[in-house]
Amino acid sequence: MEKKQFQAESKRLLEMMINSIYTQREIFLRELISNASDAIDKIYYKALSDSQLVFNKDDYFIKITADKGNRTLTIADTGIGMTQEDLENNLGVIAKSGSLAFKKENEVKDGHNIIGQFGVGFYSAFMVADVVTVISKALGSDQAYKWESAGADGYTIVPAEKDTVGTEIILKIKENTEDDSYDEYLEEYRLRSIIKKYSDFIRYPIKMDVKSQRLKEGSENEFEEYQEEQTINSMVPIWRKNKNELTAEDYERFYNEKRYGFDKPLKHIHISADGAVVYNAILYIPEHTPFDYYTKEYEKGLELYSNGVLIMDKCADLLPDYFSFVKGMVDSEDLSLNISRELLQNDRQLKLIAKNIKNRIKKELQTLLKEEREKYEKFYKSFGKQLKFGAYSDFGAHKDDLQDLLLFYSSKEKKLVTLDEYVERMPEDQKYIYYASGESVERIEKLPQTELVADKGYEILFFTDEIDEFAIKMLRSYKEKEFKSVSSGDLGIEADEKEKQQENETENKELFEQMKTILADKVKEVKASKRLKTHPVCLSTEGEITIEMEKVLKAMPDSRDVKADKVLEINVNHDVFKSLKEAADGDQEKLKLYTNLLYNQALLIEGLPVEDPVQFTNDMCKIMK
Ligand code: ADP
Ligand code: MG
Repeated sequence: MEKKQFQAESKRLLEMMINSIYTQREIFLRELISNASDAIDKIYYKALSDSQLVFNKDDYFIKITADKGNRTLTIADTGIGMTQEDLENNLGVIAKSGSLAFKKENEVKDGHNIIGQFGVGFYSAFMVADVVTVISKALGSDQAYKWESAGADGYTIVPAEKDTVGTEIILKIKENTEDDSYDEYLEEYRLRSIIKKYSDFIRYPIKMDVKSQRLKEGSENEFEEYQEEQTINSMVPIWRKNKNELTAEDYERFYNEKRYGFDKPLKHIHISADGAVVYNAILYIPEHTPFDYYTKEYEKGLELYSNGVLIMDKCADLLPDYFSFVKGMVDSEDLSLNISRELLQNDRQLKLIAKNIKNRIKKELQTLLKEEREKYEKFYKSFGKQLKFGAYSDFGAHKDDLQDLLLFYSSKEKKLVTLDEYVERMPEDQKYIYYASGESVERIEKLPQTELVADKGYEILFFTDEIDEFAIKMLRSYKEKEFKSVSSGDLGIEADEKEKQQENETENKELFEQMKTILADKVKEVKASKRLKTHPVCLSTEGEITIEMEKVLKAMPDSRDVKADKVLEINVNHDVFKSLKEAADGDQEKLKLYTNLLYNQALLIEGLPVEDPVQFTNDMCKIMK
């Protein structure tokens, strides 16, 4: 018998496959089942156009048989079969030139093994088998043939016996080695779970003889083992069903079966797209934040199916980071299971789907916000931070997608409001969108800096997340209204108070300069406050960096010494100011004491640590004496 050589490229891929220490060896079964399903499809399409052929659905199935004794695993189908030439042409050649290069490039680049993403088909059988035997009888042919190969050294084709049309693939499963066990591919439970995982939605039944126990006939407590042929796959995927046929419970069940999360999904999105790109998707917005969500361990991504066959567990490219909380799956016929298809095209399809999905999620969230506010707030509590990170990331490139999804606590409404709601309510004379930052709503409410703005009757947004101020810096403005911190130097209020202010400034110029000298470089300036009404003192900032930002930046692992330019503001209408003035007239020690005390109070109000707590308490004691 003549042994034929594989074509050069096939040989190289084959060697790579055999030698790969590939963790997902199990995908060989997915590949062989997909081929079997394709072969049945081919008969089905033939029957559509050939009136002589009747396609009786029950006659078409895939059967998996494990024989532990002989160490064989057989995948049999009732598909179209292969002629001698087919065996030669289809199993002797693989991988058009582009695919090998692609494999090499991509494997290194993103750590993904491409076998996991795109099938490499028939040859993956050699990952688990020493010898692969294919016995096939083609539709319309009287003679069956046997193709056999023990790997890279070539293959043989000889005539064989087979009654029915179809193909049988017999794998001689490898012996266990020290490092690898292959026994699992002969175990019923393992095979079943592989089939469920990758091939649950193959359109034809995948049958297997399954051992079960039953009560012996006539007995009440004696059991006997028996074998029964079962269909393992569920065949019709939920995403191919009509939305009208499905209930909320169906979607919930799928969410739980798939282990997308252990909670109930807050919302599901079922997409059946047949525009520029054809795909089905079921997406979920979870209700709760996964425990590892805000950590590096969390991996975003959607399951990716090609025509009902799982090709990737977590396709990260399908989701932008700011929607990384979305779970679910995408199935597209436009994606090839096989790498031999044009790669670029795949990429483009995937990008198109990703863009589609992004827009749809955005739209659904907007609708949720508009129509089910309470639910949206629940969502926002879990994932709002991620949206704000998104607004901040990439220098604000995604702000148009995100700014209308953001919520902030409002000083006036005492609840979360959107930027749009804020701007719509702004009085005509209000120039800016005001915000105040702090640890909590309670603390911000007490901040002296808010006094003037609040007195004016203006609404203030409370920023309690570290990311808030950074995100807003990227937005810069909303509907042409700029954001303004209540602590910033110029609040853009009070033409009428300006004069009085100037007066105070010249009048107390000397005093403030003395105080500035005492505080040295701790502050940039000491001045009379425009914003304080009842409080004696506060800190404000000049420039881009606010005190809250300084805190956040300081807490970062690679913190550089970033400092806000602080201004100590004194309320010249406060009783304390009188004492200060008195002290300035002669008692330098007292002025120093008061200045330091006021400065430390301002720090405490800001939630900043007092630089020298011992000195601070000593100073307190001094004035109590
Ligand atoms: P692909 O399925 O992407 O074409 P494969 O390497 O998986 O690549 O299979 C190569 C070819 O072998 C198939 O295109 C098909 O023509 C043929 N083939 C494989 N398995 C079967 C089968 N069970 N029945 C009929 N033809 C098959
Ligand atoms: Mg294939």
